[in-house]
Amino acid sequence: MSLTDAAAALRAHGRIAVACHEAPDGDALGSLVGCGRSLRAAGWDVVLWAPGDAPLPADFAWLGYNDMVRSAPADLEQRLLLTLDCGSALRLGADGELAVARAATSVNIDHHADNTRFADVNEVDAGAACATVLCLRLLRLLEVPLDQPAAEALYVGIVTDTGRFMFSNTNAEAHAAAADLIVMGVEPDAVFRHLYEGKPAARVRLLARALTTLDVRANGRLAVACITLDDLEQTGADEADSEGVIDHLRAIRGVEIAAVIREPRAGGGTLKKVSMRSAQPHVDVARIAHAGGGGGHAMAAGFSMEGDFAHVIELIETEFTRA
Ligand code: AMP
Ligand code: MN
Ligand code: MN
Repeated sequence: MSLTDAAAALRAHGRIAVACHEAPDGDALGSLVGCGRSLRAAGWDVVLWAPGDAPLPADFAWLGYNDMVRSAPADLEQRLLLTLDCGSALRLGADGELAVARAATSVNIDHHADNTRFADVNEVDAGAACATVLCLRLLRLLEVPLDQPAAEALYVGIVTDTGRFMFSNTNAEAHAAAADLIVMGVEPDAVFRHLYEGKPAARVRLLARALTTLDVRANGRLAVACITLDDLEQTGADEADSEGVIDHLRAIRGVEIAAVIREPRAGGGTLKKVSMRSAQPHVDVARIAHAGGGGGHAMAAGFSMEGDFAHVIELIETEFTRA
Protein backbone atom coordinates (compact mmCIF):
# COMPACT_ATOMS: atom_id res chain seq x y z
CA MET A 1 0.00 0.00 0.00
CA SER A 2 1.52 3.30 -1.09
CA LEU A 3 0.71 5.31 2.01
CA THR A 4 2.81 2.81 3.96
CA ASP A 5 5.54 3.19 1.33
CA ALA A 6 5.29 6.97 1.63
CA ALA A 7 5.65 6.75 5.40
CA ALA A 8 8.62 4.38 5.05
CA ALA A 9 10.34 6.75 2.59
CA LEU A 10 9.84 9.64 5.00
CA ARG A 11 11.20 7.64 7.92
CA ALA A 12 14.30 6.91 5.82
CA HIS A 13 14.89 10.56 4.84
CA GLY A 14 15.44 13.17 7.52
CA ARG A 15 15.84 15.96 4.97
CA ILE A 16 12.87 16.76 2.80
CA ALA A 17 11.36 19.42 0.55
CA VAL A 18 7.57 19.66 0.70
CA ALA A 19 5.90 21.22 -2.32
CA CYS A 20 2.42 22.04 -3.60
CA HIS A 21 1.19 23.08 -7.05
CA GLU A 22 1.85 26.54 -8.48
CA ALA A 23 -0.90 29.15 -8.24
CA PRO A 24 -1.80 27.37 -4.98
CA ASP A 25 -5.35 27.17 -3.64
CA GLY A 26 -6.50 26.51 -0.08
CA ASP A 27 -5.92 22.76 -0.34
CA ALA A 28 -2.39 23.19 -1.74
CA LEU A 29 -1.35 25.75 0.89
CA GLY A 30 -3.21 23.95 3.67
CA SER A 31 -1.36 20.74 2.80
CA LEU A 32 2.00 22.50 2.56
CA VAL A 33 1.59 24.25 5.90
CA GLY A 34 -0.26 21.53 7.81
CA CYS A 35 1.90 18.63 6.68
CA GLY A 36 5.23 20.43 6.16
CA ARG A 37 5.30 22.28 9.46
CA SER A 38 4.10 19.23 11.42
CA LEU A 39 6.92 17.14 9.97
CA ARG A 40 9.37 19.93 10.85
CA ALA A 41 8.11 20.08 14.44
CA ALA A 42 8.54 16.29 14.64
CA GLY A 43 12.24 16.54 13.72
CA TRP A 44 12.48 16.48 9.93
CA ASP A 45 14.65 19.10 8.23
CA VAL A 46 11.97 20.65 6.02
CA VAL A 47 12.04 23.19 3.19
CA LEU A 48 8.54 24.42 2.23
CA TRP A 49 8.42 25.05 -1.51
CA ALA A 50 5.49 26.97 -3.02
CA PRO A 51 6.53 27.05 -6.71
CA GLY A 52 6.03 30.08 -8.95
CA ASP A 53 6.67 33.81 -9.23
CA ALA A 54 3.19 35.26 -8.74
CA PRO A 55 2.54 36.59 -5.23
CA LEU A 56 0.95 33.98 -2.96
CA PRO A 57 -2.80 34.60 -2.45
CA ALA A 58 -3.64 37.16 0.22
CA ASP A 59 -6.67 35.07 1.32
CA PHE A 60 -4.49 32.47 2.98
CA ALA A 61 -1.67 34.75 4.18
CA TRP A 62 -2.79 34.22 7.78
CA LEU A 63 -1.42 30.66 7.46
CA GLY A 64 2.04 32.30 7.25
CA TYR A 65 4.25 32.49 4.18
CA ASN A 66 7.55 33.65 5.71
CA ASP A 67 9.19 30.21 5.76
CA MET A 68 8.37 29.35 2.12
CA VAL A 69 10.77 29.35 -0.82
CA ARG A 70 9.49 29.95 -4.37
CA SER A 71 12.03 27.92 -6.37
CA ALA A 72 13.41 24.41 -5.97
CA PRO A 73 15.96 24.25 -3.13
CA ALA A 74 19.62 24.17 -4.26
CA ASP A 75 20.28 21.03 -2.18
CA LEU A 76 17.32 19.07 -3.59
CA GLU A 77 19.68 16.20 -4.48
CA GLN A 78 19.98 15.52 -0.75
CA ARG A 79 16.28 15.77 -0.04
CA LEU A 80 13.18 13.65 -0.45
CA LEU A 81 10.66 15.66 -2.48
CA LEU A 82 7.13 15.32 -1.09
CA THR A 83 4.53 16.81 -3.45
CA LEU A 84 1.00 17.52 -2.22
CA ASP A 85 -2.14 18.22 -4.31
CA CYS A 86 -0.01 18.09 -7.47
CA GLY A 87 -1.48 16.18 -10.42
CA SER A 88 1.70 16.21 -12.49
CA ALA A 89 5.33 17.29 -12.25
CA LEU A 90 4.51 20.25 -14.50
CA ARG A 91 2.24 21.61 -11.79
CA LEU A 92 5.49 22.31 -9.88
CA GLY A 93 6.34 24.81 -12.63
CA ALA A 94 8.34 24.72 -15.83
CA ASP A 95 11.27 23.02 -14.05
CA GLY A 96 9.03 20.55 -12.23
CA GLU A 97 10.16 17.45 -14.07
CA LEU A 98 13.79 18.41 -13.50
CA ALA A 99 13.09 18.91 -9.79
CA VAL A 100 11.52 15.44 -9.46
CA ALA A 101 14.54 13.94 -11.23
CA ARG A 102 17.00 15.88 -9.06
CA ALA A 103 15.50 14.89 -5.72
CA ALA A 104 17.06 12.01 -3.77
CA THR A 105 13.66 10.35 -4.00
CA SER A 106 10.10 11.54 -4.49
CA VAL A 107 6.69 10.95 -2.93
CA ASN A 108 3.50 12.16 -4.62
CA ILE A 109 0.39 12.45 -2.44
CA ASP A 110 -2.67 13.61 -4.33
CA HIS A 111 -6.39 13.23 -5.06
CA HIS A 112 -6.54 14.12 -8.80
CA ALA A 113 -7.85 11.17 -10.83
CA ASP A 114 -5.64 12.24 -13.75
CA ASN A 115 -2.46 12.25 -11.62
CA THR A 116 0.44 11.16 -13.83
CA ARG A 117 2.14 9.17 -11.02
CA PHE A 118 5.40 10.97 -11.68
CA ALA A 119 7.18 10.13 -8.40
CA ASP A 120 8.99 7.12 -6.94
CA VAL A 121 6.12 6.55 -4.52
CA ASN A 122 2.63 7.59 -5.61
CA GLU A 123 -0.30 7.67 -3.23
CA VAL A 124 -3.21 8.86 -5.38
CA ASP A 125 -6.73 8.54 -4.00
CA ALA A 126 -9.28 10.19 -6.28
CA GLY A 127 -11.95 9.31 -3.73
CA ALA A 128 -10.39 11.65 -1.18
CA ALA A 129 -12.16 15.00 -0.91
CA CYS A 130 -8.88 16.93 -0.79
CA ALA A 131 -5.16 16.53 -0.31
CA THR A 132 -5.27 17.62 3.33
CA VAL A 133 -7.27 14.52 4.37
CA LEU A 134 -4.49 12.46 2.78
CA CYS A 135 -1.94 14.51 4.75
CA LEU A 136 -3.90 13.69 7.90
CA ARG A 137 -3.80 9.96 7.02
CA LEU A 138 -0.02 10.20 6.46
CA LEU A 139 0.71 12.14 9.66
CA ARG A 140 -1.31 9.60 11.65
CA LEU A 141 0.60 6.71 10.13
CA LEU A 142 3.85 8.47 11.05
CA GLU A 143 2.46 9.22 14.52
CA VAL A 144 3.31 12.88 13.99
CA PRO A 145 1.25 15.15 16.27
CA LEU A 146 -0.55 18.24 14.95
CA ASP A 147 -0.63 21.55 16.76
CA GLN A 148 -3.60 23.91 16.46
CA PRO A 149 -2.21 25.97 13.52
CA ALA A 150 -1.43 22.78 11.58
CA ALA A 151 -4.92 21.42 12.26
CA GLU A 152 -6.35 24.74 11.06
CA ALA A 153 -4.31 24.55 7.85
CA LEU A 154 -5.58 21.02 7.10
CA TYR A 155 -9.13 22.18 7.83
CA VAL A 156 -8.73 24.98 5.24
CA GLY A 157 -8.04 22.34 2.56
CA ILE A 158 -11.25 20.50 3.42
CA VAL A 159 -13.42 23.64 3.52
CA THR A 160 -12.11 25.11 0.26
CA ASP A 161 -11.91 21.94 -1.88
CA THR A 162 -15.41 20.78 -0.83
CA GLY A 163 -16.91 24.25 -1.36
CA ARG A 164 -17.77 24.47 2.35
CA PHE A 165 -18.91 20.82 2.48
CA MET A 166 -21.26 21.11 -0.49
CA PHE A 167 -19.56 19.77 -3.63
CA SER A 168 -19.97 16.15 -4.69
CA ASN A 169 -16.51 15.25 -3.33
CA THR A 170 -17.84 15.92 0.20
CA ASN A 171 -17.85 12.55 1.95
CA ALA A 172 -17.87 11.00 5.39
CA GLU A 173 -14.08 11.16 5.69
CA ALA A 174 -14.14 14.91 4.99
CA HIS A 175 -16.65 15.46 7.78
CA ALA A 176 -14.92 13.01 10.14
CA ALA A 177 -11.53 14.63 9.52
CA ALA A 178 -13.08 18.06 10.07
CA ALA A 179 -14.52 16.84 13.38
CA ASP A 180 -11.13 15.48 14.45
CA LEU A 181 -9.47 18.78 13.54
CA ILE A 182 -12.06 20.68 15.58
CA VAL A 183 -11.18 18.45 18.54
CA MET A 184 -7.56 19.56 17.96
CA GLY A 185 -8.59 23.19 18.42
CA VAL A 186 -9.89 24.42 15.06
CA GLU A 187 -12.65 27.02 15.41
CA PRO A 188 -14.80 26.80 12.26
CA ASP A 189 -16.15 30.34 12.61
CA ALA A 190 -12.63 31.77 12.90
CA VAL A 191 -11.60 29.93 9.73
CA PHE A 192 -14.79 31.10 8.01
CA ARG A 193 -13.98 34.72 8.90
CA HIS A 194 -10.41 34.34 7.60
CA LEU A 195 -11.58 32.78 4.34
CA TYR A 196 -14.83 34.47 3.45
CA GLU A 197 -15.24 37.72 5.37
CA GLY A 198 -13.29 40.92 5.09
CA LYS A 199 -13.07 40.77 1.31
CA PRO A 200 -11.55 43.75 -0.45
CA ALA A 201 -14.07 46.01 -2.20
CA ALA A 202 -12.01 45.53 -5.36
CA ARG A 203 -13.05 41.88 -5.45
CA VAL A 204 -16.72 42.78 -5.45
CA ARG A 205 -16.09 45.39 -8.18
CA LEU A 206 -14.33 42.74 -10.24
CA LEU A 207 -17.26 40.35 -9.71
CA ALA A 208 -19.67 43.04 -10.92
CA ARG A 209 -17.60 43.64 -14.05
CA ALA A 210 -17.11 39.95 -14.75
CA LEU A 211 -20.84 39.23 -14.47
CA THR A 212 -21.61 41.85 -17.15
CA THR A 213 -19.73 39.58 -19.60
CA LEU A 214 -22.00 36.60 -18.84
CA ASP A 215 -22.54 34.62 -22.01
CA VAL A 216 -24.97 31.68 -21.84
CA ARG A 217 -24.43 29.33 -24.78
CA ALA A 218 -25.14 25.80 -26.00
CA ASN A 219 -28.90 26.06 -25.36
CA GLY A 220 -28.34 27.34 -21.85
CA ARG A 221 -25.96 24.53 -20.82
CA LEU A 222 -22.71 26.54 -20.88
CA ALA A 223 -22.14 29.80 -18.97
CA VAL A 224 -18.97 31.79 -19.65
CA ALA A 225 -17.54 34.98 -18.17
CA CYS A 226 -14.31 36.73 -19.14
CA ILE A 227 -11.90 38.83 -17.09
CA THR A 228 -9.34 40.98 -18.86
CA LEU A 229 -6.15 42.60 -17.61
CA ASP A 230 -8.00 45.89 -18.02
CA ASP A 231 -10.69 44.65 -15.58
CA LEU A 232 -7.99 44.03 -12.98
CA GLU A 233 -6.50 47.45 -13.73
CA GLN A 234 -9.83 49.31 -13.51
CA THR A 235 -11.00 47.63 -10.30
CA GLY A 236 -7.62 47.38 -8.56
CA ALA A 237 -8.32 43.68 -7.99
CA ASP A 238 -5.74 40.88 -7.73
CA GLU A 239 -5.76 37.83 -9.98
CA ALA A 240 -6.91 35.71 -7.05
CA ASP A 241 -9.98 37.97 -6.69
CA SER A 242 -11.51 36.21 -9.71
CA GLU A 243 -11.92 32.96 -7.70
CA GLY A 244 -15.57 33.28 -6.62
CA VAL A 245 -16.98 34.46 -9.96
CA ILE A 246 -17.48 30.94 -11.28
CA ASP A 247 -19.87 29.90 -8.49
CA HIS A 248 -22.39 32.47 -9.73
CA LEU A 249 -22.30 30.98 -13.22
CA ARG A 250 -22.65 27.41 -12.07
CA ALA A 251 -25.74 28.28 -10.03
CA ILE A 252 -27.73 29.37 -13.10
CA ARG A 253 -30.70 27.09 -13.85
CA GLY A 254 -29.97 24.68 -16.68
CA VAL A 255 -26.22 25.35 -16.73
CA GLU A 256 -24.10 22.19 -16.90
CA ILE A 257 -20.68 23.83 -17.25
CA ALA A 258 -19.45 27.15 -15.91
CA ALA A 259 -16.23 28.61 -17.29
CA VAL A 260 -14.28 31.71 -16.31
CA ILE A 261 -11.57 32.80 -18.69
CA ARG A 262 -9.05 35.30 -17.41
CA GLU A 263 -5.78 36.89 -18.41
CA PRO A 264 -2.97 36.19 -15.92
CA ARG A 265 -0.72 39.24 -15.36
CA ALA A 266 2.36 37.24 -16.33
CA GLY A 267 0.76 36.26 -19.66
CA GLY A 268 1.07 39.73 -21.18
CA GLY A 269 -2.57 39.81 -22.35
CA THR A 270 -2.32 36.91 -24.82
CA LEU A 271 -2.35 33.95 -22.41
CA LYS A 272 -5.74 32.83 -21.11
CA LYS A 273 -6.31 30.80 -17.94
CA VAL A 274 -9.52 28.82 -17.93
CA SER A 275 -11.35 27.58 -14.83
CA MET A 276 -14.25 25.18 -15.30
CA ARG A 277 -16.83 23.71 -12.95
CA SER A 278 -19.42 21.06 -13.69
CA ALA A 279 -22.93 21.46 -12.29
CA GLN A 280 -23.98 17.90 -13.22
CA PRO A 281 -22.33 14.68 -12.03
CA HIS A 282 -22.49 13.21 -15.56
CA VAL A 283 -20.63 16.18 -17.12
CA ASP A 284 -16.85 15.76 -16.89
CA VAL A 285 -14.93 19.04 -17.20
CA ALA A 286 -11.55 17.29 -16.89
CA ARG A 287 -12.17 15.88 -20.38
CA ILE A 288 -12.47 19.40 -21.77
CA ALA A 289 -9.43 20.55 -19.76
CA HIS A 290 -7.37 17.71 -21.24
CA ALA A 291 -8.37 18.83 -24.74
CA GLY A 292 -6.95 22.25 -23.83
CA GLY A 293 -3.72 20.76 -22.46
CA GLY A 294 -4.67 21.04 -18.76
CA GLY A 295 -6.26 18.76 -16.20
CA GLY A 296 -8.12 18.49 -12.93
CA HIS A 297 -11.15 16.69 -11.57
CA ALA A 298 -14.45 15.69 -13.22
CA MET A 299 -16.23 18.50 -11.36
CA ALA A 300 -13.42 21.15 -11.36
CA ALA A 301 -10.70 21.48 -13.94
CA GLY A 302 -8.66 24.01 -15.85
CA PHE A 303 -6.18 24.77 -18.59
CA SER A 304 -4.12 27.62 -20.02
CA MET A 305 -3.73 28.54 -23.65
CA GLU A 306 -2.63 31.35 -25.94
CA GLY A 307 -5.30 33.04 -28.03
CA ASP A 308 -8.19 35.46 -27.81
CA PHE A 309 -11.31 34.90 -25.72
CA ALA A 310 -13.48 33.88 -28.70
CA HIS A 311 -11.01 31.17 -29.64
CA VAL A 312 -10.93 29.73 -26.11
CA ILE A 313 -14.73 29.82 -25.82
CA GLU A 314 -15.01 28.00 -29.13
CA LEU A 315 -12.68 25.25 -27.93
CA ILE A 316 -14.71 24.78 -24.74
CA GLU A 317 -18.06 24.76 -26.54
CA THR A 318 -16.84 22.42 -29.29
CA GLU A 319 -15.41 19.92 -26.80
CA PHE A 320 -18.47 20.14 -24.59
CA THR A 321 -21.04 19.61 -27.35
CA ARG A 322 -18.94 16.94 -29.09
CA ALA A 323 -19.75 14.36 -26.41
P1 AMP B 1 -9.05 26.14 -10.74
O1 AMP B 1 -10.16 26.36 -11.70
O2 AMP B 1 -7.81 26.88 -11.08
O3 AMP B 1 -9.49 26.31 -9.32
O4 AMP B 1 -8.66 24.61 -10.90
C1 AMP B 1 -9.60 23.59 -10.75
C2 AMP B 1 -8.92 22.24 -10.79
O5 AMP B 1 -8.27 22.07 -12.05
C3 AMP B 1 -7.83 22.07 -9.75
O6 AMP B 1 -7.90 20.76 -9.26
C4 AMP B 1 -6.55 22.27 -10.50
O7 AMP B 1 -5.54 21.51 -9.94
C5 AMP B 1 -6.90 21.84 -11.90
N1 AMP B 1 -6.20 22.65 -12.90
C6 AMP B 1 -6.39 23.97 -13.14
N2 AMP B 1 -5.57 24.41 -14.12
C7 AMP B 1 -4.84 23.35 -14.51
C8 AMP B 1 -3.79 23.14 -15.48
N3 AMP B 1 -3.33 24.13 -16.26
N4 AMP B 1 -3.28 21.90 -15.58
C9 AMP B 1 -3.72 20.89 -14.81
N5 AMP B 1 -4.69 21.01 -13.88
C10 AMP B 1 -5.25 22.21 -13.72
MN1 MN C 1 -5.39 22.46 -5.52
MN1 MN D 1 -7.05 19.61 -3.96
